[in-house]
Amino acid sequence: MGALAGRTALVTGASRGIGRGIAERLGRDGARVAVHYGRNEGAAKDVAAAIEAAGGSAFTIGADLRSPGAAEALWEEFDRHADGLDILVNNAGIGSTRPITEIDEEEYDAVFAVNVKAPFFLLKYGLGRLRDGGRVINVSSGLARTAVMPDNVAYAMTKGALDVLSRDLSKVLGARGITVNSVAPGIIDTDNTADLLHGSAGGWDRAAALSALGGVGTPSEVADVVAFLASREGRWVTGSWVDATGGSLT
Ligand code: NAP
Repeated sequence: MGALAGRTALVTGASRGIGRGIAERLGRDGARVAVHYGRNEGAAKDVAAAIEAAGGSAFTIGADLRSPGAAEALWEEFDRHADGLDILVNNAGIGSTRPITEIDEEEYDAVFAVNVKAPFFLLKYGLGRLRDGGRVINVSSGLARTAVMPDNVAYAMTKGALDVLSRDLSKVLGARGITVNSVAPGIIDTDNTADLLHGSAGGWDRAAALSALGGVGTPSEVADVVAFLASREGRWVTGSWVDATGGSLT
């Protein structure tokens, strides 16, 4: 029996990339997984099917986290499938690569809506569903702690805000045995980083050179860290910022 047997997990942005890796890993560990998607319903259904093909259990939930009221709508749909939650992974996120001289208010609002407002209100409205002893894992970024890509300033600011949410909510939820942590990937090979890694000659090598381990990360490398925090073994880790950058901050 898997380590997370009997648990229910919600992974936002699980239709692709890091979220897909996390959803499949938690599914393999025995959790019943709510696979959230924004626009790519078909991809989310493929993820749920992959989890079930591997012997797990999953269902899909759609919600555009940029829209006002999205968090409440997401939970209403969740309630049609499950009667409580043990693990919430706030993974859905979008990037912003335009420097302060070029970014406009629309892009600023969008990146804050998806990366900060959505996790905040998913927690606000989800706390009653989250069972005692549960886990909240917020997917941050190494860019919250390094200015190696200063044109990503608005994006990095969103992850800094998410980290404060992890830190302060760990105090609020500790009495219920719920842990709250941030996991910070470095550069991971997903659609999000396709331009950076594949858009110009040498992009992959420049990215790999940033990490002490000399490589570009994969979704499964982040998922393994999330799985630890979600497991019983992670029970005494809370309010932490877990560096999963492959040593990009050293
Ligand atoms: P990705 O491949 O671009 O996937 C993004 C996911 O978020 C998709 O499942 C997408 O759903 C969902 N999403 C985006 N906008 C949404 C919206 N408005 N409403 C609902 N869902 C939305 O991204 P990724 O690289 O896996 O990144 C996942 C997380 O890791 C993000 O928080 C990102 O900031 C963080 N991160 C990534 C890296 C990296 O190098 N890749 C590094 C550090 C941190 P649909 O496709 O269904 O719309």
